[in-house]
Amino acid sequence: MCAIGMAERTLDLMIARVTDPSRRTFGQVLARHGTVAADVAKIRIDINAARLMVLAAADKIDRVNAKGALRDIAMAKVMVPNMLQRTIDLAIQAFGAAGVSQDFPLARFHAAARALRIADGPDEVHIQQLARFELFRGDAIRKKQEAIKARRAQIYKNGSKL
Ligand SMILES: Cc1cc2nc3c(=O)[nH]c(=O)nc-3n(C[C@H](O)[C@H](O)[C@H](O)COP(=O)(O)OP(=O)(O)OC[C@H]3O[C@@H](n4cnc5c(N)ncnc54)[C@H](O)[C@@H]3O)c2cc1C
Repeated sequence: MCAIGMAERTLDLMIARVTDPSRRTFGQVLARHGTVAADVAKIRIDINAARLMVLAAADKIDRVNAKGALRDIAMAKVMVPNMLQRTIDLAIQAFGAAGVSQDFPLARFHAAARALRIADGPDEVHIQQLARFELFRGDAIRKKQEAIKARRAQIYKNGSKL
């Protein structure tokens, strides 16, 4: 949830900057450029999606236990730091050169977000674990598909007798 908070703070900084009437490019406040406004909207979608994913993992830990929530935890550990890194990157872009200066915290946030993709276990390890979980379902999915196919064939056969 620290990463969600950092993303919210980043979005606040970005919105304050791009709506600042004193900062104009090509005669327009930055937010009047369509791509900048779209970035703000996409960030909001990303943050809300990430928050829900964290809450879903926390809820499962409470209801089941940490072991039972491994998949949800792995998904959150990959999704949230990646979302944060993308968010900070877009905010830095909107700030221009100021974004990579020491005058704003964004460059510092960027380094912290990058570390998160390693610190809680590298993305690759969580992705491998998730892939194992999903691929394990292969046999069961094929069996279910065969059952549906057999049922459909049965229905057609019975129908043709009417
Ligand atoms: C800021 C920070 C805080 C940390 N805090 C803690 C902490 O509180 N507790 C703790 O126990 N550890 C902590 N760590 C350590 C962290 O868990 C390890 O850095 C991390 O697990 C990666 O191990 P490593 O650095 O030895 O890199 P390596 O294990 O050498 O991995 C290097 C890279 O190889 C790739 N890789 C590794 N394994 C696989 C794989 N199975 N498949 C594909 N690619 C792979 C990944 O790209 C990975 O980034 C922290 C690290 C940082 C940077």
